[in-house]
Amino acid sequence: MAPEFLRIAYLVLLRNTRVGVDDFGSWKHLTEYSKPAMFQQLNTIIFVLFLYSSIVPADRGDALLPLIRTEHLKAHITALQENTQQSPKRIYRTRSAYHRDASDNAAAYIADQFRRSPRLKVEFETFGGFKNIVARLLPRATSKSNRVFILCAHYDTQSDRDADWNPLTSPAPGANDNGTGVAAMLEIAHLLSQFDYDHELRFIAFDAKEIGLMGSRHHARKAAQAGENIIAVFNIDMIGFNWISDLVEVVTDDSSLWIGDALLIANKWYDLGLEMRRTRDESIDSSDHKSFWDKDYHAVTLVESSTPWRDSRGYEANPFYHTSRDTVDKINFRLVRKVAQLALVTLNSLAGREFQEMTSVPSLTIHPQLVMRQNLPHITGSFESSFPIEIVVNPGNVTAQLDRSNHTYTAAVPLKPGENRVRATAVYPLGARSVEKIITFDSGFAWESVIVFPNPSRQIDELTVFRAEGNLPLEKMSISIYSADGLLVKEIQGVVDASNPRIWRAWWNHRVAFGIGVAMGIYVCRFEALVNQKTYSQTRKLAIIR
Ligand SMILES: [Zn+2]
Repeated sequence: MAPEFLRIAYLVLLRNTRVGVDDFGSWKHLTEYSKPAMFQQLNTIIFVLFLYSSIVPADRGDALLPLIRTEHLKAHITALQENTQQSPKRIYRTRSAYHRDASDNAAAYIADQFRRSPRLKVEFETFGGFKNIVARLLPRATSKSNRVFILCAHYDTQSDRDADWNPLTSPAPGANDNGTGVAAMLEIAHLLSQFDYDHELRFIAFDAKEIGLMGSRHHARKAAQAGENIIAVFNIDMIGFNWISDLVEVVTDDSSLWIGDALLIANKWYDLGLEMRRTRDESIDSSDHKSFWDKDYHAVTLVESSTPWRDSRGYEANPFYHTSRDTVDKINFRLVRKVAQLALVTLNSLAGREFQEMTSVPSLTIHPQLVMRQNLPHITGSFESSFPIEIVVNPGNVTAQLDRSNHTYTAAVPLKPGENRVRATAVYPLGARSVEKIITFDSGFAWESVIVFPNPSRQIDELTVFRAEGNLPLEKMSISIYSADGLLVKEIQGVVDASNPRIWRAWWNHRVAFGIGVAMGIYVCRFEALVNQKTYSQTRKLAIIR
């Protein structure tokens, strides 16, 4: 536990200090940190140790989430948009793959940002005049795994929806497409490279995506030729233009569905509050996932909408897409941050726990039992898991509410009176585990039908009939009628049916006790039944009109 505390504490320290961020990329460098500054930061470390040990002892993901900072994302996106060359001083404002001076300048920025973390092995991958930037976090020394997890984003831009687009002279700032994806990737690479994983984590900024997915095609082809064991590719392409909802679409094919599941489960587990749409469509070829699909690797793309030029549910068409007006001021940073957090914790979890050679099954216990809440049968139980799971309860296929702080779950389940075979299933990206238990549901009293007729009632002298039927004989029953403002207008005892004691009826002529007719309007009718010394109630509305 202790080294984990220290790494998280150190990360927070890094994120809180402007000085030395570039110089101290790994834990061992902290010892070289100057002593007075060290003391200034000591309180921060102690505070974080306290927070970390008292609130989130089990899950690194929880501790990582707040370290994705809007100001860092914004700084990257602004730098990529302006794409300023220091000497000779020049502002390109484009990263068109055809404009090599501009592209090479952006590639140098990305490489420098990767190099903030000395544990990342950074190299340029050149092909046909283009340039990917690849940063590898190698597996821990003792690991024999050859698995590779990839997080990627293209960095080239184009403004081909502008009428006079010229790749060599026109601006293509690409703040959203795809400054957002590159910024998220850079921050995630920086955070995750502080840890050791059993598998390689590979972060790639692709060139020449906009002119035919050329960067990713090159990388995927080489990987396939070398027989690389790429397990999952998370591609982020354009995640910041949406001011009406926190929506992210995950594009998958059949074999990549499990990566989509991992993202969906993590969104709920970490309570990120993203609205997620998983789109399984092998014909979507508009981003770099496609190059990996074509080599039979599993890949998904996270995107604000797979059709950004068109309105869809929760999304308004992005008028700045592929134009010179795609700038940082149009970006919803809350959304970018959430998507970055989602990719961060999902990748950390998959590479860190779920694909561990020794423990690829969750440490999980489920003990379903029955409780009644609001007259409805609920199944509750406990769970333990070292990574995100979802719990589904049957009958009813109900997704349970998880309370991670108490390790408990609850689900309202449609049980029948008598014996029920209840199954709780922990679902995780690589599989599922179930426990079953026979649970006897003694339903007690239940309403079978409650009727107010006719409704609306049209005439002042017409009788309204109230009829209720239960599953058990009714000892006593009454109805209380309230006006819309809550005043009791009338109480009626009614009669139990002589031949069937489960049925009760009452009648009302729309008059109060003194024989005065009630005003037209909406009335609330409260049925109350006494069964086995317990009171059960139901309400219905009655409209009286002329
Ligand atoms: Zn793009």
